[in-house]
Amino acid sequence: MITSTFDFDLIVIGAGYGGFDAAKHAAEKGLKVAIIESNDMGGTCVNKGCVPSKALLAASGKVREIANYDHLSKFGIHTSPVRFERSKIADHANNLVSNIRSNLTKTLTRVGVEIIRGFGRIAAHQKVGVRTKNGVDQIFTCENIIIATGSSPFVPPGITLDNRTVFTSDDAVKLEWLPRWIAIIGSGYIGLEFADVYTALGCEVTMIEALENIMPTFDPDITKLAKKTLLESRYIETKSNVFATKVEPGCPVKVELTDANSKEIVDSLHVDAVLVATGRVPNSKNLNLESVGIKVKKGYIPIDDKMRVINDKVIVPNVWAVGDVTGKLMLAHTAAAQGTIAVENICGQSKQIDYKTIPAATFTHPEISSVGLSESESKELAKKESFDLGVVKSYFKANSKALAELESDGMLKLLFNKNSGKVLGAHIFGLHAADLIQEVANAISRNQSVIELSSEIHTHPTLSEVVEVAYKQAALQIK
Ligand SMILES: Cc1cc2nc3c(=O)[nH]c(=O)nc-3n(C[C@H](O)[C@H](O)[C@H](O)COP(=O)(O)OP(=O)(O)OC[C@H]3O[C@@H](n4cnc5c(N)ncnc54)[C@H](O)[C@@H]3O)c2cc1C
Repeated sequence: MITSTFDFDLIVIGAGYGGFDAAKHAAEKGLKVAIIESNDMGGTCVNKGCVPSKALLAASGKVREIANYDHLSKFGIHTSPVRFERSKIADHANNLVSNIRSNLTKTLTRVGVEIIRGFGRIAAHQKVGVRTKNGVDQIFTCENIIIATGSSPFVPPGITLDNRTVFTSDDAVKLEWLPRWIAIIGSGYIGLEFADVYTALGCEVTMIEALENIMPTFDPDITKLAKKTLLESRYIETKSNVFATKVEPGCPVKVELTDANSKEIVDSLHVDAVLVATGRVPNSKNLNLESVGIKVKKGYIPIDDKMRVINDKVIVPNVWAVGDVTGKLMLAHTAAAQGTIAVENICGQSKQIDYKTIPAATFTHPEISSVGLSESESKELAKKESFDLGVVKSYFKANSKALAELESDGMLKLLFNKNSGKVLGAHIFGLHAADLIQEVANAISRNQSVIELSSEIHTHPTLSEVVEVAYKQAALQIK
């Protein structure tokens, strides 16, 4: 049991998904815990991320489905033109945010976590300072500190936000208006999800990407397929290899595009709105990290697989960090898992995270998901460890359930070690890809071989048979 000479056994700075899970788990383990939050309880995921964006995607996805006359008529269904109320869709997202935020706060209180409102910082070794909004400063002592301060949208130089015509996802989730024409800067998962929402609700979208190819973070074969459905069929104009070097808010919003290679201005756009979705930066400023010797790397707090903060392989005692501020697979479930693992280690259990087992999803219609290694990472590993790489593709067009739904655009690519049969990674585009990836993530986590996996029986007819087919194809290739 941890000593009680401190005000708290554990202080968590930041009540996002990472901080929440850490504080809850620690309190359930009997620790005296405080959590400090400077803004809304629940952090990015609950207030400005996963929760409101998925609520918008759910509502706009229904609009898309009902408005898709061609698709519905193949079932013999005929609908009249779809009508929707933007403000009610926005309310749906806002209400969900309030509910989840309130539940999360109640959960922390119920398990005995003390919630302290204010801006937290490290004051010294085993000391945390908090400045409240009215300027009161307090110092608390604690055995351990978990930093879970998350991240904020990155806005490249030259782009001016007015949060009305030029905005980031922080404002896009409010869906305050529907621009006739919107440029989305960035073709990562956030840009793609909002393109899905906006096009479903009748907006024209232009997508701008600084790298050579659109959707650069996804598997190239998945991108080829997904691009057709998610971008081309929705008449989304794409401009890649260009930087938006100047964006001026107003009516219209003026966008200047500069070629990534020649650095010459090559284009300009006059649009109704711009969504800046160019990645996120860690919230590691003003935390007084230097006072305990923490050196950030590009703003991220370096950690080991036990969530201990490290500086050049030296552990900073009693300080842990979890979530987006650590820059590892910046997703809500990563933050939550890291939070739990940090607490397990604080409590004397030796627990480590394995990022290769953490799935990621883009909740477009249809979805994209992945887990484990990319094909190029797998090739490198195969070379390094002298094994043969296996790659199989399983198609939704051969799946009865997908065909019954008339949603057969989709593919699963499975990467595996042909010598051992171990699964290395998977990449999916298709109906419910976000759910399907979990099965492969579990297989990687359990270190299972495709031989073993290929004999597991799947319900017919379900989309999960897409995974079964991939395992069966892979098993045939095992040496
Ligand atoms: C539009 C969008 C959609 C997303 N969709 C998904 C999704 O579908 N699935 C998914 O897994 N992930 C998604 N994410 C990512 C996910 O939201 C983040 O990975 C997750 O919120 C990170 O959790 P965290 O606890 O590290 O940080 P955060 O959620 O950012 O929380 C950090 C908290 O710390 C507080 N804080 C910061 N500094 C201080 C301080 N000094 N003192 C006190 N409090 C402080 C902040 O106010 C904040 O509340 C999405 C993100 C965005 C932007």
